[in-house]
Amino acid sequence: MKRIAVLTSGGDAPGMNAAIRAVVRKALYHNVEVFGVYHGFRGLIEGDIRPMDVGSVGDIIHRGGTILYSARCEEFKTPEGQEKAVAQLRARGIEGLVVIGGDGSFRGALKLHERGIRTIGVPGTIDNDIPGTDFTIGFDTAVNTVIQAIDKIRDTATSHERTYVVEVMGRHAGDIALWAGLADGAESILIPEEPYNLDDIVERLQRGHQRGKKHSIILVAEGVGSGVDIAREIAARTGFETRVTVLGHIQRGGSPTAFDRVLASRMGALAVDLLLEGKSGRMVAIQNNRIVDVAIDEAFAQPHAVDLSMYHLARILSI
Ligand code: ADP
Repeated sequence: MKRIAVLTSGGDAPGMNAAIRAVVRKALYHNVEVFGVYHGFRGLIEGDIRPMDVGSVGDIIHRGGTILYSARCEEFKTPEGQEKAVAQLRARGIEGLVVIGGDGSFRGALKLHERGIRTIGVPGTIDNDIPGTDFTIGFDTAVNTVIQAIDKIRDTATSHERTYVVEVMGRHAGDIALWAGLADGAESILIPEEPYNLDDIVERLQRGHQRGKKHSIILVAEGVGSGVDIAREIAARTGFETRVTVLGHIQRGGSPTAFDRVLASRMGALAVDLLLEGKSGRMVAIQNNRIVDVAIDEAFAQPHAVDLSMYHLARILSI
């Protein structure tokens, strides 16, 4: 293999740049030419593909977002769109592709694999919702962003003796809420994977209040429902002054943590090795702190599972 390309797709995540850097530099180390595809699968269809050199990925390891930009592309879901993408790669003699993105992007990657382009996925999403890997690139940074925000909210919550409902990202996966909630001692954590009971939340709040707690934090993953509605119900049931903060897109940005930079560097480098070994249709993963590769279709046969032992531990520790 003499030429490969790399793209980022779907929701951006801190650490994607570190992964791009690793792909480019590892390829160059093996004397393989490497191209950057701009704007994800849309750029692939349109031929927005440019050569990368050592300098193109200089000074990006610490930056959030993605220098290759990201996009969502409906046309790529069609066979015609996929054929156009394949033709763009073939016209340039590009034989392998690294796709950095989330589960949707991996489904796209599989389509290219089925059409004869060797393709490797690198999991990059703040949600940590990709099956087959313990962590995705960007998750650790997002959790750290959330706990920094909650620490600040806690200061003002204590001063005013308020209850705060904090809504975080996670439509289908409660990982951000769970990790941030455990790390920050939230009184209750609401995740899409577990039904919640308002009576229980109210009882925990009242019990805390009786033993002199000055504030309470309730963490809600967006997939559970609106933080505003939940706060309204809690206020009505307890009479406590209850405020809401929706953290939104600040969770997507920021400089990646050391963990995410290291993870991205290890994963990006292995993706290149896999292509050079002739592998395709596989994704890089971290399992028990070892960087491994798994077949995308096999990984996706199982749904992503949140670690419920952490959920139960958080309940015990925040009593
Ligand atoms: P993420 O990768 O973060 O989950 P999306 O689900 O939006 O983000 O997927 C990103 C892009 O991947 C889509 O805009 C589309 O171009 C491509 N994609 C998603 N699902 C498929 C599919 N089933 N077949 C082909 N391409 C897909």
